[in-house]
Order: sequence, then structure tokens, then C-alpha cells
Amino acid sequence: MLLTITTTHFPATELGYLLHKHPDRCQSFPLSFGKAHVFYPEASTQQCTAALLLDVDSVKLVRGRSVRLEQYVSDRPYVASSFLSVAIAQVFSTALGGRCKDLPELAKTPIPLVAKLSVLPCRGGEEFLRQLFEPLGYNVSAEGHTLDDQFPDWGQSRYFTVELQQIITLSDLLSHLYVLIPVLDDEKHYWVGDEEIEKLLRHGEGWLTKHPAREQITKRYLKRQQRLTRLALAQLVESDNLDPDSTEENHDQEEAAVEKPISLNQQRLDAVITALKQSNAKRVIDLGCGQGNLLKIILKDSFFTQITGVDVSYRAIEIAQERLDRLHLPRNQWERIQLIQSALTYQDKRFSGYDAATVIEVIEHLDLPRLGAFERVLFEFAQPKTVIVTTPNIEYNIKFENLPAGKLRHQDHRFEWTRAEFQNWANQIAEHFSYTVEFQPIGTQDPAVGSPTQMGIFSRNF
Ligand code: SAH
Repeated sequence: MLLTITTTHFPATELGYLLHKHPDRCQSFPLSFGKAHVFYPEASTQQCTAALLLDVDSVKLVRGRSVRLEQYVSDRPYVASSFLSVAIAQVFSTALGGRCKDLPELAKTPIPLVAKLSVLPCRGGEEFLRQLFEPLGYNVSAEGHTLDDQFPDWGQSRYFTVELQQIITLSDLLSHLYVLIPVLDDEKHYWVGDEEIEKLLRHGEGWLTKHPAREQITKRYLKRQQRLTRLALAQLVESDNLDPDSTEENHDQEEAAVEKPISLNQQRLDAVITALKQSNAKRVIDLGCGQGNLLKIILKDSFFTQITGVDVSYRAIEIAQERLDRLHLPRNQWERIQLIQSALTYQDKRFSGYDAATVIEVIEHLDLPRLGAFERVLFEFAQPKTVIVTTPNIEYNIKFENLPAGKLRHQDHRFEWTRAEFQNWANQIAEHFSYTVEFQPIGTQDPAVGSPTQMGIFSRNF
């Protein structure tokens, strides 16, 4: 099985830096199912081609299992399949992640690239192949192969030699190949579980939500497992629903700028930490953790023993991870924290088993009709002993000089509530799910309009 990637971006040999593989060398990498070899059939400043040759060991594939003779005879060693995706992820992991130590700018620059797959099995034929790659901007050429040259009557096989051409970043090209090759093949050589969703969302970041065939891609990628497909599509829809900038640093600054004169963010975090400690919550899950403002504080405080951050936005999780990395904590401290990408409006067993859940400035980002789903996920299924929810108090908005009248504090807010609205909502939840709720103002109190942030602290009655 052979994949080649060619560029004519001058000086083309820089492809070697992007792939972290020197054009003058032939390198081999052992994989659990065989070997991968990387070499450059051509390497000039005008044009450079890197080749990834996959040598799948068909005997290894069946070793240890009781097999029938025909299982030794398979197309797997000769075609592009999930084996190739695994090889791409292992051999070109830095390039796939869009990183390049020596030429960081080039890794982010779209350059002319041509990927050629010697044999790609396409269940759904050339039409489906085009449906997958053309919406992503590729110029696709495909040459179909007959089933057997000796017997033309047998017709066409599902194998194609495919060339994909586009001006694109190398990391995007590799991500597309990583996801779409097994989708076309409609098969995976390994067990597909929940972690496969995370891989799909990570490598599909930035293109999958908008892809017209996203449902079919998701279904096939997850080996047609209905539960996984449903979960993944739900997360795709939720992340598509987000304001694209809402998790970017500059956008949070927008809200911070409105609230800045009273440094509300700090007061909010202090109030949450105090409430957590008062309820003796040592294991905490932060739902909608964003870029990890609260996680950072909790992680530095040895009172807390287990900390999980959840967000639907992969980008937010990535930023949170980078910010936590910058704390340079000793290795054993890292065992206390994990970050997971998930939607709060779908049941997820990973949300269970915590003393407390914090939901800081998140509910107002959910569409009102989805709020009921979130309530059940948290109070009916996850059931932490303590739940802390904060949200803006809309009555206070008139006090923000730099916020135009009638405008919400952040452009992704779907609503902001008065104190009565929030307390009404919280009291109903408490009654319905058998919790008790207390309210606390956060920030400067105004006699007429109250405080800028409102907090509800729920305690489980059972
Ligand atoms: N709690 C953080 C971030 C608040 S911003 C802080 O106080 O700094 C709101 C966050 O909720 C965003 O990061 C957004 O990605 C996340 N979010 C919005 N809808 C979500 C959903 N349905 N599931 C999970 N997270 C969601």
C-alpha cells in the first residue's frame, strides 16, 4: 500500500521539515501490524514527493486466532484502510497535529499538495469518493480497476487509484485522509469504542460539522454503531451551534471588558471555590470549563483530589490544556486532572461519581429548549452531592456603562435572567430532582438591581 504526497511549493524540499522526515533518508517504523517506510522518490527544490509505504503483515493479522484458510487471503495488505490511518497518526503525528518546530509558519500555510493513493477501496464507488472530497475543495481524479483483467465481464471492482489535489495545509490534508480513508473502505481493523468519537471530533475539527455528508461519515467512521453515531452527531451539532469565536480568548475578553471595572471574574471564581470547600467537595467536575479558568485554580489547590473539565468545544479544551501545561506542575499532580470533550445536553456516564459539579457562566449559552435535557443529564443521571451554577443577572446590565441598553453581555448568550427568573428555575429543579437550593449574589450589590452575577448552590437531599 502506497501513499505519496507531492508539493511544488518552493523550496519543495521543505516538505521534509513539515513531515519531520529527512528527504535524503529512508526510514522504517515498526507498527503492531507490520512496518511503515518513509522515503522520497523525488526531492528537488521545484518538486518534492514523500512516500509512505505500508507493509502489512497478513500472517501477523491472523496470528493467535482460529482462522479459516481464506482469511489469510485478504486485500488488507494492498489497499488503503484504517491501517493507513494508524500509520499516518503514528509516523506523521506532528504534521497531522499542524506543528512544525523548524517552520511553524509553513505548517499553517496552505501550499499546493497532491496526495496519491495507489489503491483505495471505495464502498459507494467514485460518486461517494467525490461526495467526500469535493466539498472539502479537492480536485479529485480516480481511475477505477476492473475486478479481473482476464474476465472483463465481471465488471468493475471497488478499488480506485486516486489523486487528490488542492492548495491546503499539510495538516488538513492528513486529517482528511485520516478520517475519510476508513470511511470509504467502510471497515476498521480494531474495536471501536467511545474514544473513537473523540478521535473523530479531533481530526474533524473545523470541517466535519459543515460537511454535507457528515452523517454518513460519522456513521461509517464509528462502524455503524448506533449509540456512538448518535453521541458523535449530537456533539457535532452542539459544537456547530456555538458562536465560532465564543471560545476564543479575544471573545472572552469582550465579556471581561464589559465586567472589568469590578473584576467580576475573580470574585466569581473565589465565591465558587469557597462554596466548594464549604460543602467539602474534593472531587469536582467543571461542566463547560471553557479555557480552564476554574480548573487552573483548583489544580493548584491540594484540597481538591480529582478534577475533570468538560467542554463541547475541542478548541476550548485545547487552550485549557495548554494553559494547564504552563503551570509546570510535578508529574504526580497530573493524575488529578482530566479534560473531556462532551456535550452537556446528552447523558454521559463520565459525569458521574463526583462530589460537586460546577456550571460557571454556561447555562446562558444553551438554547432554552435544550435546558431541560441538561437538567436531566446533571440532576437525574450524574447526581453530584453539590451543584454550583452561576449566570448573569440581567437586571444589573444597566450598571455597565460600556454595554449598550438591551444588549446581552456576550454575543453567544441565548438569554440572561433576572433574579426572579433564575430563582424560579432553580427552585423548580430542586423540587423536581430532590435537591435544596440556596442563592448568593456575586460582585458589588446594588439596592435596586442586585449583583452582577447570581449563584445557586444545590445540595442533594438523598
Ligand atoms: N466556565 C467557563 C467558560 C464559560 S463560557 C468560565 O467560567 O470561564 C461557556 C462554555 O460553555 C464555552 O466554553 C462553551 O464551549 C461551553 N458550552 C456551550 N454549550 C455547551 C454544551 N452544550 N455542552 C458543553 N459545553 C458547552
